[in-house]
Amino acid sequence: MPDVYVARTLASSLDALSERGKAGAPLAGGTWIMRAPLRGEAFKTSYVALSKIAALKVIEVGDRSVEIGAGATHAALADALSGLSGLEALAEAAGASANPAVRGMATLGGNLSTCDFAAADLVPALLALDAEVELAGAGGVDRMGIEAFLELRSQLEPGRLLTKVVLPRRPQRSAHVRLPLRKAGDYPVAVVSLAVTLDAASRVATARIAVGSVEPVARRWRGLEAALIGRSLDPDAVAVLAKAHLADLTGRDDGVEAPGWYRVAVLPALVRRAAAALLATS
Ligand SMILES: Cc1cc2nc3c(=O)[nH]c(=O)nc-3n(C[C@H](O)[C@H](O)[C@H](O)COP(=O)(O)OP(=O)(O)OC[C@H]3O[C@@H](n4cnc5c(N)ncnc54)[C@H](O)[C@@H]3O)c2cc1C
Repeated sequence: MPDVYVARTLASSLDALSERGKAGAPLAGGTWIMRAPLRGEAFKTSYVALSKIAALKVIEVGDRSVEIGAGATHAALADALSGLSGLEALAEAAGASANPAVRGMATLGGNLSTCDFAAADLVPALLALDAEVELAGAGGVDRMGIEAFLELRSQLEPGRLLTKVVLPRRPQRSAHVRLPLRKAGDYPVAVVSLAVTLDAASRVATARIAVGSVEPVARRWRGLEAALIGRSLDPDAVAVLAKAHLADLTGRDDGVEAPGWYRVAVLPALVRRAAAALLATS
């Protein structure tokens, strides 16, 4: 079995990770790492557990932004964001993923840092909400947009840790919908997160739409975002627009839940549901 070092401070976790190099890795909620044998993967020789670092669990809700420590669990996140206007997508993503036991363990940092987890719920929500992330390492702290982080995360050198996510608070509304094939606990076939601002005439002024679980990594659906500008958010009309932009996405065939074509085909229905959920928020 791998060796586990339980860090009590951020500084000691960074030191321990640097010492271990490629033989080590952070251990957050463990809900992905524990399933390594099921995926036919070997454990690392050594893990640095983050669960006792209080600073990583802090969630600060301000008027202009919300800062969330990477160690916040899905359950803590769903509680802290409940009722916060504009951030509905992340509250729903955190509160609807997996099942209650997993939500009490799985962390924001683990969700974002798991390179091979196409179905991660928080990632599309954070793309729609224009999140930034902070990374700490021996050289100090870097902040970057979430899209930049997703591009570099597979090459993060040992000793760098995702420590925080920062969400701007905007006069927007957002929603997150997912399609599990059976019941809570399954990885979703497809996920859509949507954040829009409406003008005085209730037309879409800005839109950020992200799709998860369809391709290997969640990403924004820019063709549909552009097509929505200036239109009303009528759910049926938005679904028709989504259908016209399906060629923008290529479904992955590497999961057991569904073939790639099906992941793409369900998107107009999910976009319709997301628009309806968003309009239902006040
Ligand atoms: C049956 C089951 C169903 C699930 N279904 C869903 C679902 O539908 N949607 C969903 O979103 N989640 C789901 N999850 C949870 C999912 O595993 C977690 O959301 C997440 O991918 C892992 O979080 P973790 O904290 O457990 O990370 P861990 O398993 O501890 O770590 C995962 C990876 O991230 C790295 N890591 C962890 N923290 C950091 C950090 N701060 N900085 C850098 N690297 C870090 C680790 O080294 C490891 O490589 C499910 C889990 C189970 C067991």
